[in-house]
Amino acid sequence: MSSLLLTGIGSLVTNDPAHGGLLGELLDAAIVVEGGRIAWVGSRRAAPAADSSADLGDRAVIPGFVDSHSHLVFAGDRAEEFAARMTGQPYSAGGIRTTVNATREAADEQLTANVARLVAEMRGQGTTTVEIKSGYGLTVADEARSLAIAADFTDETTYLGAHVVPAEFADDPAGYVDLVTGPMLDAAAKYAKWVDVFVERGAFDADQARAILRAGQAAGLSARVHANQLGEGPGVQVACEVGAAAADHCTFLTDADVDALASTGVVAGLLPAIEFSTRSPYPDARRLLDAGVTVALATDCNPGSGYSSSMPFCIALAVREMHMTPAEALWSATAGGAASLRRTDIGHLTPGARADLTVLNAPSHLHLAYRPGVPLISKTFVGGRPV
Ligand SMILES: [Zn+2]
Repeated sequence: MSSLLLTGIGSLVTNDPAHGGLLGELLDAAIVVEGGRIAWVGSRRAAPAADSSADLGDRAVIPGFVDSHSHLVFAGDRAEEFAARMTGQPYSAGGIRTTVNATREAADEQLTANVARLVAEMRGQGTTTVEIKSGYGLTVADEARSLAIAADFTDETTYLGAHVVPAEFADDPAGYVDLVTGPMLDAAAKYAKWVDVFVERGAFDADQARAILRAGQAAGLSARVHANQLGEGPGVQVACEVGAAAADHCTFLTDADVDALASTGVVAGLLPAIEFSTRSPYPDARRLLDAGVTVALATDCNPGSGYSSSMPFCIALAVREMHMTPAEALWSATAGGAASLRRTDIGHLTPGARADLTVLNAPSHLHLAYRPGVPLISKTFVGGRPV
């Protein structure tokens, strides 16, 4: 097992509170990587010898971004719908059906190629772990194949048969819930780690969501929820009730919702690229953080409500529009994402962690929010290997 010493790190974000502050930032630092893991972290002057070394030229190094929410298995795009929205039409959950039709018609190779393209796009922007949901198939066969394709790219696969009720079940939503909790779950479960449901007016109500999440849990999946995106509703409460890892969106919350998140430890996933692309009010991150809620930032990359794969863009939005500090936003995009996926091996750079790290073409992580829209990713390592 050969070791690699990375030196010349002007600023190193470890997310290890032992080094002080929220980010555990070390200046003039070095890292040793061995066997795909972080073997040593510390000051450059104290660095041990290694089999090989690379000087990063005083650049900043951060943990790779953990994007805990995306929908990458689909065909087609909805650029026209975006244009219409920007001229005044509101966003509704119904547009999902457009992508469902295109996805059902697409060949496996076409779907796989699209996921590969988007995952590469994410890697190029510093993301080292991505969660990928199904949800544009909505038949037994199409949900199973969507998850089989996603599983080729990540361990963090999510069964979202309950994305929206498909057109053919418009008059029989109860029949669709039976399908989602029965044969579709049976076919999907072997490819999925998570089960998810879109709790929203026009999608699924609280009782349907409970049934779907409980069935998924009985099949060995862990729960996460699309909650409170378009208005106040029961999504967050259901997430807390079933012990979900995360309630994502959290755009419209009551005080009771905030209390429930804080007391249960369910992670609030904030997805500001969606508010940007639907021209909607942003969630109140400050209120959640001040209440002690763990916040994750993710892209929710999807062809309808927000087609950005960029975690740096989400960080810039979180700082500018959601009143997070740059340190809080970076923590939420790395350690927060790991918490949302219940992962302890990623989201931080401490000995034993997976060597997933991103080198910035900048002296400090502050540049992520300070220089929005600028490609600042110099290099991304996954499991110690440059990608
Ligand atoms: Zn989503």
